[in-house]
Amino acid sequence: MRASALIAFLFLSSAACRSGQPPAPTNPIPSRHPIVLITIDTLRADRLGSYGSTRGLTPSLDAFARGAARFTAAVSQVPLTLPSHATILTGLHPAHHLIRTNDGFRLAATVPTLAEQLKAAGYRTGAFIGGYPVRASSGLARGFDRYDDEFLRSPDATERSADEVLRSATAWIDAKGSQPFFAWIHLFDPHSPYAPPAPFAAAHRDTPYDGEVAYTDAAVGRFLDRLGQLGLSVAATIVIVADHGESLGEHGERTHGTFLYDATIRVPLLIKLPTVRPEPDTTYGRNTDGKTVGRTEAGRVVDVPVETADLAPTIAALAGTALTRSDGRSLLPLIGGAKGDPDRPAYAESYYQNVLLGWSPLRAVRTRQWKYIEAPRAELYDLEGDPHELQSRLNERAALATGLQRALTGLEAAARSKDDVHGAGANESVERLRSLGYASGSTAPAPAGRAIDPKDRVAVWAEIEDGIDLTARDPASAEHKFARALQLQPDNGLAMKYLADLRFRAGRLREAREEYRRAIAAGFRHPDAYVNLASIAEREGHFDEAREALNRAVELASSDADAWNRLGLLEARRNDVGAARRAFTRAIAVAGDRPEPYYNLGLIERRAGNETAAQTRLQEALTRDAAYAEAHYELATGYLLARQPERALEAYRAALASRPEYAEALFGAARAELDLGKNADARRDYERFVKIAPNEYRRQIAAAQAAIKRIKN
Ligand SMILES: [Zn+2]
Repeated sequence: MRASALIAFLFLSSAACRSGQPPAPTNPIPSRHPIVLITIDTLRADRLGSYGSTRGLTPSLDAFARGAARFTAAVSQVPLTLPSHATILTGLHPAHHLIRTNDGFRLAATVPTLAEQLKAAGYRTGAFIGGYPVRASSGLARGFDRYDDEFLRSPDATERSADEVLRSATAWIDAKGSQPFFAWIHLFDPHSPYAPPAPFAAAHRDTPYDGEVAYTDAAVGRFLDRLGQLGLSVAATIVIVADHGESLGEHGERTHGTFLYDATIRVPLLIKLPTVRPEPDTTYGRNTDGKTVGRTEAGRVVDVPVETADLAPTIAALAGTALTRSDGRSLLPLIGGAKGDPDRPAYAESYYQNVLLGWSPLRAVRTRQWKYIEAPRAELYDLEGDPHELQSRLNERAALATGLQRALTGLEAAARSKDDVHGAGANESVERLRSLGYASGSTAPAPAGRAIDPKDRVAVWAEIEDGIDLTARDPASAEHKFARALQLQPDNGLAMKYLADLRFRAGRLREAREEYRRAIAAGFRHPDAYVNLASIAEREGHFDEAREALNRAVELASSDADAWNRLGLLEARRNDVGAARRAFTRAIAVAGDRPEPYYNLGLIERRAGNETAAQTRLQEALTRDAAYAEAHYELATGYLLARQPERALEAYRAALASRPEYAEALFGAARAELDLGKNADARRDYERFVKIAPNEYRRQIAAAQAAIKRIKN
């Protein structure tokens, strides 16, 4: 959404800114066996044959289900990718891990994770990511030795195929050491846009979502075969679950996130426990002589409600450890045959349209038979008689509804009383909610008549969602969709903001500014709007206005590292070194794992004449991203000026290793080589520089040509 800001500081400095791209088990379990968790994004339970589908899309998952425990009433706590995965990987409800939607939230360092716990228990931990929402910077990477989301570094990459993810995971698993491992594998394919590869595209021309499901199933099948060859289909725990489903038009919802109907919150969940006891020094594959412990009764069906929050305590128990806190409970007793509670109220919530549009949040509890949805107009469904939730029974079953409402309130009260670890974090979450647009930051749905019920305005959201999807490939149609949303709801600030974004990207800056101001006047105060207003003002040379807008952005979102970073760049441009230093320091304070603010601080220190501090900061940037070409380059330039050509050359080479077409680094390397008497190398690098340098380096090109001539003579 944001334009990237570039600023040159020094001679030959190129881009100065990168905008950043439990309870114990009831029976003994063979400890220290491998654990594989596969989350399939956006997979509806009813697409699996084992869940009653007759479409024939999932032969591999169905074969797996025959040897696993299958849960028919597994409930995702949030039908959105990042918050749902945060629950799966912490065992906490959103009220505790504090991630409410995909954007603008980051798992706080105070929230303990399953991966940390397993790592502490001696497990090797690896995560293999399929889609952008669970990128490392979401905070989910904490506790993983390896977090493979590197494909996101290439521009415009937002997802990769199941086969690519599984190839990476397989390589990691193959490199097995003596340690047991925990692998989390995230497959994003069924998420929109639906574009299955051949031959699934042709086979599901009219139902491309089904094509994505069929493709993912085939990829998972190949992976499970590979695990079988390694002996892991007997030795490992394998959990397969979805983060949420997909509405596919039910209740007027095209994808997921807004509503809490079963199309999105009831997820497939299959768990296969190890069937042999792994011997400590045995290589998988030879390890077939262990005793059968038989904990997974093949084909066991668990029909009582469970939560995806139960997975982390279950996995922790399987690894012989326990989470420090959890809102879930281990599923091992149920897998072992315990009866369970059909009336356990499994929790679900959606703050999506509350955050985006200021509409009421929704919360629900689901038992085996009933679902109560708290909303301005509450709903009650009998899932046995009415699985598609078409007929609310609220009026006929008022007492039942009241009881479920009370259960929901009870869950909330329990959440509050357990909230000790991060009182401050909870405040920050409220601030994040406020900063993301309209949200009041309230954690309770507004009473009837006070807030908009999402089901009354779903048509508005459908237009906006279509517009978002069309933005990249067909901006004109996208503009039409946002305009349609504004016809349906003239004060919809989000639609205004997206219109403004379209115009901003098209370079229609005056119109963009007008639309951002309208959105803000309509009450939609989103930091991105201020950031882009700042960018427009900056391009027009109105630095004070830009500074004012960025200050509004960081006021709204004091943990927005990108906004702080931009403010620092702007202060640097205004020649206020002190203010720039303060802003970059704030960026570091809120996102210490990002290299850009360190880099920018390095350049500021250099400008202030503090070369030692500058080099320290540049090194710190490289600690966070060893392939940061510009940081290598700036370090090299410092060495060159300090007459340390050998170190300079080494750093220029590192810059060129990250970016072979880095013209400035070629020029610098040639200079260092001249100083070292390596004339042939210098000539080669000058020649390459002349070949690729852009025209604005006329002076440097002339200098390079003169140097080449001198070397020849
Ligand atoms: Zn998802």
